[in-house]
Amino acid sequence: MTRLRDLPIRDDLRGQEAYGAPQLDVPVQLNTNENPYPPSPRLVRALADAVGGIAGTLNRYPDRDAVELRKDLADYLGHGLTARQIWAANGSNEIIQQIVQAFGGPGRRALGFEPSYSMHPIITRVANTAWINAQRDDDFGVDPDRAIAVIKEYQPDIVFLTSPNNPTGTALPLPSLEAILQVAPGMVVVDEAYGEFRRTGTPSALSLLPVHPRLIVTRTMSKAFAMAGTRVGYLAADPAVIDALLLVRLPYHLSAVTQVVARTAIAHQEELLSAVDTLREERDRLVSWLRSEDLMVAESDANFVLFGTFEDRHAVWQRVLDRGVLIRETGPPGWLRVSVGTPGEMASFRTALKESL
Ligand SMILES: *Cc1c(COP(=O)(O)O)cnc(C)c1O
Repeated sequence: MTRLRDLPIRDDLRGQEAYGAPQLDVPVQLNTNENPYPPSPRLVRALADAVGGIAGTLNRYPDRDAVELRKDLADYLGHGLTARQIWAANGSNEIIQQIVQAFGGPGRRALGFEPSYSMHPIITRVANTAWINAQRDDDFGVDPDRAIAVIKEYQPDIVFLTSPNNPTGTALPLPSLEAILQVAPGMVVVDEAYGEFRRTGTPSALSLLPVHPRLIVTRTMSKAFAMAGTRVGYLAADPAVIDALLLVRLPYHLSAVTQVVARTAIAHQEELLSAVDTLREERDRLVSWLRSEDLMVAESDANFVLFGTFEDRHAVWQRVLDRGVLIRETGPPGWLRVSVGTPGEMASFRTALKESL
């Protein structure tokens, strides 16, 4: 039997652990921030028809530049964006990987404000790029003066900002972002995976694109768009940024099946996004309920809530799981994260948590 450590693997990967949100088969899954509502039978039929429509051409490579899909995504985002300013890949994780491949690399560094999305440092390090862990404030925000100081000190080639942030739910005010853009010497990536769940009045970084050619805003169809299984993420940026990504992407990276399924989903956006308002209301109810149980709760502009704090969070996580509800053991020590599900799933969660405290 060959073990991993017997292989001539890269020195910097030795002893590393693979990304692993547990995929457990339990009745209520509230651990990966998916939209809990599956496609309707009507949309399932439309998706099957769309795949059927291109199946006869699968002997050919797909459109390498996914032009039609990028046009649809530009229309969806609005803000006057065109296909030239959009790029798409297999999940926003691949988008982030391409960004680091193009703008990071040996001798370069990326900086993020933690706690935040764990894949930013993982993708960065795998691309042989140094990771600088700047800390968020006690309320999980990013104080602009502190951010400016740390960026001036480390001169990162890439700055990652997640807004709304995962796992805390915190959105970043535009003035803070603008202050960071003024001093950042390299690319600034705003990961808006949860952008659609923002509370009313919370702006998107998309509005800053026309004046900031080194700003990249990433989005995904995995969360609000209810298409996590399709694996489509995308970004909006200056067309020159997309020219840079063309240098590192694999040819034909986005399959013809993926492209046609994503386009069909966008054509049915009204149905797919119809649950967003319901989920936002359910989130606000969840925040109030957790507070009424005397728990600490982080303000959330996303479809999940970070709550705590617990002396032994693993024990609480396990007791909730024993009651058939899977949540996420993540974030700063003592905190747990729960995704917003259907009203029935949230009722199960409330019961399970109450019995576990
Ligand atoms: C879920 C998530 C992503 C990745 O989503 P994909 O499924 O790869 O598109 C990216 N960023 C953040 C902050 C996320 O939470």
